Amino acid sequence: MTARHSTDDELIERLYGLRTADDHSKHCAGCAARLAAMARRKSLAARPPDLSPAFLAGQRAALEARIARPGWFPSWRAMSLLTGATAVLAAILIFRPVPRNPQPRQVSDAQLFADIYTAVQDVEPRAAEPIHALFAEQK
Ligand SMILES: [Zn+2]
Repeated sequence: MTARHSTDDELIERLYGLRTADDHSKHCAGCAARLAAMARRKSLAARPPDLSPAFLAGQRAALEARIARPGWFPSWRAMSLLTGATAVLAAILIFRPVPRNPQPRQVSDAQLFADIYTAVQDVEPRAAEPIHALFAEQK
């Protein structure tokens, strides 16, 4: 007889006929009790549930009545139409056409020539303006 008790895995293998009983499990009362408890649980789990035909017929009638009754939920056809409309709206919002050539700024000819002359006659670059501000006299 071995000194160690059987593990749960070994007892389960014995329960399902995958292992034969060794010397320890033949003589150990603790392992035999554990194996008997496992056998009881197995037989309870394998037992079919207590469902009478009247209970099942009542369940079926309630289910059919619920299916026949119109509910608040819209039909599948309405749901598919709504989903399609939402997809089209999302596509329009995502891929909306962008104007190719934006409207040019309306500038009169006189204003345009004045801007050009100002830019040409000004010999200093615009970057020099902050430097002038540094050397301006403080009042
Ligand atoms: Zn044992």
